[in-house]
Amino acid sequence: MRVALNFNLKSQLPGKGFLTGAGSKMAEEESQFDEFEQIDFLRDRHVRFFQRTLQVLPERYASLETTRLTIIFFALSGLDVMDALHVIDRNIMIECIYSLQVLPTSDRKINLSRCGFRGSSHIGIPYSTKGPGVFHPYDSGHVAMTYTGLCSLLILGDDLTRVNKKACLAGLRALQLEDGSFYAVPEGSENDIRFIYCAASICYMLDDWSGMDIQKAIEYIRGSLSYDNGFGQGAGRESHGGWTYCAIASLSLMGRLEEALSQRELDRIRRWCIMRQQTGFHGRPNKPVDTCYSFWVGATLELLDVFKYTNFDKNRNFILSTQDRLVGGFAKWPDSHPDPLHAYLGLCGLSLIGEPSLRKVHPALNITHRAFEHLQQLQQTWRRSHGSCSRRM
Ligand SMILES: [Zn+2]
Repeated sequence: MRVALNFNLKSQLPGKGFLTGAGSKMAEEESQFDEFEQIDFLRDRHVRFFQRTLQVLPERYASLETTRLTIIFFALSGLDVMDALHVIDRNIMIECIYSLQVLPTSDRKINLSRCGFRGSSHIGIPYSTKGPGVFHPYDSGHVAMTYTGLCSLLILGDDLTRVNKKACLAGLRALQLEDGSFYAVPEGSENDIRFIYCAASICYMLDDWSGMDIQKAIEYIRGSLSYDNGFGQGAGRESHGGWTYCAIASLSLMGRLEEALSQRELDRIRRWCIMRQQTGFHGRPNKPVDTCYSFWVGATLELLDVFKYTNFDKNRNFILSTQDRLVGGFAKWPDSHPDPLHAYLGLCGLSLIGEPSLRKVHPALNITHRAFEHLQQLQQTWRRSHGSCSRRM
């Protein structure tokens, strides 16, 4: 792999035809030392990788069928980061996502607390993008699918008018536990800080925080701050880059970062995150670096306003060393198989360090700034119409 990489790099070096004799040998040797400095970003391969992700998935993804909407989000947002959404049919995608909305039944009683977005059509509910919903004992939204569903609609430029916001928020409220954390589904599941992040993102996007008890959620987040100043999955759990992102991004979306954590705590969290950089970033002390943490930890540092103190070159070189030069996408490690999550988060990691051809990513919502600006415009319209309605009343 390394030989092939070198060969490809050499063939792309500018002016290689002028390198002859002893001077050229030295120059070649030198270029081997900084081979990663020269790795190019293979945009077109990554565009095709995400196109394939939306069309057909390998058999090994079968177990992820119930969370397919998340994979759709990785692909759509990945294309958006690369400014390549023109390669897909937006209307078909929008209809496909609306067909996954769990809508209230006609009497609005049986399933209101089960609303949101489901991950795929696996349950066998007839295809429909309009209400009323059909009751099925095993059908319900999933908090991460509602988050990625709303993000995907925003990325596609939809105006969210067909999202049943009241039902989404009712479904969300039903998932919060007494300790402030959230289940993913009404039947119960793991409950932790990940799903608080999804819930906070949903409330932020819908511009309505009635979907959660913010104070209880903040108490759960605070309780998850570990002795070494990272956040764990819950109280007493090991600090981890992913949980730390969920904690800081949630507080940031709530607008409560500075209120929930003291300056001293914030500085210690900054230090814990900065220490996660080796070449790229790892998620926990003494673990290998992994592409996705260039986003999880990088975005946390960005939200804490200290990302600029990290080493961008080392980070970029590591991310690009996990790029699959044949089929596109990024893997968690060099010479491993790429997957949609690491492909998307690799792009986001590169976007954070200002890779020239990529759109900027909003560090707390994990969508592009372009999609975020679209959301802001929608929210202004909602507030204006809400204001004129309440004036009329
Ligand atoms: Zn990873």
